Amino acid sequence: MPGSTPFRRVLVKLSGEALAAPDGYWLHPPTLAGLAEDIAATIEQGMEIAIVVGGGNMIRGARISAAGWIDRATGDSLGMMATVMNSLAIETALNAAGVQARTMSAVSMPTICETYARQPALHHLDKGQVVVLAGGTGNPYFTTDTAAVLRAAELRCDAVLKATQVDGVYSADPKKDPTATRYDRITHDEAIARDLKVMDTAAFALARESRLSIVVGSMHAPSSIAAILAGTVPCTHVVP
Ligand code: UDP
Repeated sequence: MPGSTPFRRVLVKLSGEALAAPDGYWLHPPTLAGLAEDIAATIEQGMEIAIVVGGGNMIRGARISAAGWIDRATGDSLGMMATVMNSLAIETALNAAGVQARTMSAVSMPTICETYARQPALHHLDKGQVVVLAGGTGNPYFTTDTAAVLRAAELRCDAVLKATQVDGVYSADPKKDPTATRYDRITHDEAIARDLKVMDTAAFALARESRLSIVVGSMHAPSSIAAILAGTVPCTHVVP
């Protein structure tokens, strides 16, 4: 992989949909294998990687509770469990690609995986292992974007890489507005002033307060994560 990265330790935030098949099937082994190869390339670049994955390919608490048959907190518990399933799938794919990975869940499930605690997570990262952080924040009414920023701050990451459907932050929705332009670099304050949606409000507020950079890039190119971090494909850096 050409290019050099300014980052040593990065938290990669994946939406649950990044693990699904194009037809929406929950977990798609070839997609997982491609993702694992991509992460392996970042390790080869010398980076330390933590991953937070969402659960939107299976369950979002707000959506299922809106139907009225389940309350929001219980729906969110189902969503958090979906993130554990996704995390175990990523761990499996990473191990198959020769990358040592361990899932740590904010929701204690000791017969299934380690419970998240900061010091052991730092220790795993220091040893070059990928930590896959499951269960979001462990609390309902939050999202995995917030979990990503929280863990990145706790684990002394240099940035959060938010892998999305588009290659950065645009002045308007590029799918709807052909005049929309992509920002290469923008500050937290400018993003707020221009009302740009980088992450949900709680997550972005925490990133701004923690002075944490967010890199927004597209999942769609091959080796996307490694390429974004190496600076060889377009993306947006949201900086303090
Ligand atoms: N969730 C939660 N607390 C958290 C993180 C996630 O309750 O700290 C639940 C919530 O129901 C959410 C679901 O898990 O909708 C899946 O996470 P998210 O929606 O962030 O997934 P993504 O959209 O990134 O796939």
